[in-house]
Order: sequence, then structure tokens, then C-alpha cells
Amino acid sequence: MNVPTPSSPPSPPLWRQLQAAAGALQAVRGGQSATAALAAVPPGLRPAAQALLFHGLRQLGRAEALRALLARRAPPPPADALLCLALALGWDEAGAPYTPFTLVDQTVEAARRGPARAQAGFVNACLRRFLREREALLAASARDPVARWNHPRWWIERLQRDWPADWQAVLQAADHPAPLTLRVNRRRSSVAALQARLAAAGIAAEPIGEDGLLLPRPRPVPELPGYAEGAFSVQDAAAQLAAPLLLDGLARPAGRPLRLLDACAAPGGKTAHLLERTDADLLALDVDLARCARIHENLARLGLAARVRAADAGDPYAWWDGQPFDAILLDAPCSASGIVRRHPDVRWLRREADIARLAATQDRLLQTLWPLLALGGRLLFCTCSVFLAEGRERIETFRARHTDARMRPAPGHLIPRSAAVDAAVPDNRRRDNDGFFYSLLEKGPA
Ligand code: SAM
Repeated sequence: MNVPTPSSPPSPPLWRQLQAAAGALQAVRGGQSATAALAAVPPGLRPAAQALLFHGLRQLGRAEALRALLARRAPPPPADALLCLALALGWDEAGAPYTPFTLVDQTVEAARRGPARAQAGFVNACLRRFLREREALLAASARDPVARWNHPRWWIERLQRDWPADWQAVLQAADHPAPLTLRVNRRRSSVAALQARLAAAGIAAEPIGEDGLLLPRPRPVPELPGYAEGAFSVQDAAAQLAAPLLLDGLARPAGRPLRLLDACAAPGGKTAHLLERTDADLLALDVDLARCARIHENLARLGLAARVRAADAGDPYAWWDGQPFDAILLDAPCSASGIVRRHPDVRWLRREADIARLAATQDRLLQTLWPLLALGGRLLFCTCSVFLAEGRERIETFRARHTDARMRPAPGHLIPRSAAVDAAVPDNRRRDNDGFFYSLLEKGPA
């Protein structure tokens, strides 16, 4: 973890990294996103703190169960975060990034020198007891499904209902870091040209999908050749399916540009992919003004142009000019349950009640946008969710009320599979994608 290269500055001591990561873990437990929590960490410490925090979040169910066995009453939040982080890092002897001695020594040092100083002795005693009684404590904790699968109980139970044959693989996949996947900007480069450029810099990359390159060993993105000049973007292989699904085979209007709506566009990943693949008059909406700024930044870097508006897609009176769209992309707000391997905080931040609320928003956006589509036009509905309530069930509900919505071929639910489970499958690499749902609807006569 965090191995220095000859040109990089020396890493901060581990106790400082642990302190920063524990502070961020405490903030996530208090309801902040990991992104916001890490923004408060000094830049020099951030990459190391992120690696530790993400490891901690992926193993938090196990760590909290162990802490509860070691001490029935939780210590104050700073000490509890530090203790749980150390348990998350150390419980699995084979996968632990540090020796037990280093981890205990540095965790106690982190406690002594920070807000958990009054509990340094307690942290030390808990960790030493864990090392002495490891086997028994692990066996006891494994009886709790939250500890076994490192997800909230309601999440596990929903996956068991939705994916009776695959729920374990889906949960397991969430505990493996995602590969780095690039989407080549067709207007500035090609898959072969960028692959050759990366190879010349000593970076291995394999083609994936029509526009993608997968880097088995992730690297800091701005350091990759071609980033600043907009030769590529970072986008998971599953997300790269949206633009070809919507555009391939779409009838082109005579005498005017294609009219496209990207209804929930920020930060503009799919907007940009659409524009890399076709010339169009594209309206990119997002309700979040700050996130609209990111659409502008991304389009500028990639050399693309769209009309960008901060608006509620569910209130077309505020932004629609009355001209029907040839195609609409509805990448709807969702639980993000399909991208937990990239955002390990999401599983702990979501509440079960969020799913029904998000499903209601998805229904409202589908219903509102459908009348804005031209006859013969297409609407692509997608979410980065693995829950049926944010995919298949939404489309079934919608089609029950809209007889003019025809289904066109689309992948439906793409669920991530653990590399560990799929190692024997020859096309394993193709399955190494985020969880997504795609449904493509074409408007026919009513
Ligand atoms: N399509 C984007 C991309 O590929 O980069 C990702 C979109 S993200 C899944 C969903 C977005 O929907 C968020 O940026 C959120 O701000 C936006 N959103 C949520 N409710 C909305 C609404 N009522 N109208 C427009 N945008 C909305």
C-alpha cells in the first residue's frame, strides 16, 4: 500500500495516515460522503488516507462486529473509528497490509497523538486481546451476516430476494477495488492509438467494449498521457454502453441536427460520450448547479459542446422549447448500489427507505419526459443500481401505463460478479463491470 517511487516524496508515517483515515471514517459514520470527508484531509495525506479509508469501509461490518465483541460499550467516536479501522485492516491475516505488530504499534501511536489520546490504553488493550483471541472472535463475528458480507442487513436481504442465485457474488464483488477503465475520445484519438501511447509509457491496457481501455494496474489519472488534451475520460465499461445503445440504428432527421436530451447529465460522462459519437444539438440538464459546472469542465477538456442548463428534468415547463427530442437519455438518480466497489461509503450511508423514494423519482421522471419524445424516438432509461426496484420494476410499471412504449434490445440488469468467483470463466474480464440497468424504449403509435 502506498509504495513510494524514486521520484515521489516520502510517505507520512503510518500513524498519521491512520489518524487521517480514522477522522474521515468518523465523518462518514456521521453521514458525510467519503469524498467530502477526504476533502478535509491535507492533500499530502489524502491518497494514503483514501486507501486506508476505503479498505476500512469495505470491511466495516466485520470490524464493528469485532469491536462489539471486544467492548460492549463503544468508546467515544474518535477512538471507536480508530479501533474499527485497525480491526478492518488487520482481521484477515492473509490480506492484511501490515504486520500485527506494526498495526497495533502505529494505531496506539495515532491514538496517543490525537483526539483519542484518553483512550490510547483501551485501544491498545482491545487490539492485543484481538491478536490473542483472533480465531474465537472471528468465528463468533462470522455468525452475523453484516460482518460476514460487510453490507447492511436490509441490503443483503434485498439482494437475496432480487438475485437468489448471485447475491453472494454481487456482495463479494463490492469488496474488490474496481479496475481503471478509460473511454477513448473518438474525436481526438482511437483505442489502438491510445493503447500504443500508453504502452510507450510502460502502461499496460487492454481494449474493452467499443471505446474502452482497461488498465489492470490503476494509476493517477492526470499523469496518464493524453489526459490534459482530452484524449480520454475515466468511465466504467458498463457506463460506456449508454451512448451506443441510444444512438446505434437511430434514424437521423433530414435537414436538421439530431435533437438529444441528457436529462440527468452531471458530471457529463455520458453527455460527452454521445457527442464523441455523433454531431447533435444536445441539451444537458442537471438539477444541481454545482455539478453543472463539472459538465462544462469535462466538455471543454474533451473539445465538445452542448447546451447545459441547471434545471429539474421533471419540470419541463421551466426549460423545454416545445420541440420534440429524437432521443432522450434518462440516467436517473438512484441508490448507486451498482458502484459500491468504487464508492464503499454508499452502502453505509443509504437507508432502506431511500429505495422507494428514489423509485418514485424515477417513475416521475420517466412519466414526465416520455411526452417530450418524437414519434419513432427512443428513450434510454438507466441506473447504476443492482436492485430490481430501480430497474426492471420501474420499466414494468411504466409500460403498464404506456402502450406506445416498445422495448428494443438492451442488456437489462448487468450485475457485477466477483473476480474470485468467476476466475474459472474464460470471459471473466468482460464481467468486471459496475452494476447497471439499461432499458431502451421506442415510441410507437398509441
Ligand atoms: N449521466 C451522468 C454521467 O454519466 O456522468 C451521471 C448522472 S447521476 C447518475 C444522476 C444525476 O441526476 C445527478 O447529477 C443529479 O444531480 C441529477 N438529478 C437528480 N434529480 C434530478 C432532476 N430532477 N432533474 C435533473 N437532474 C437530476
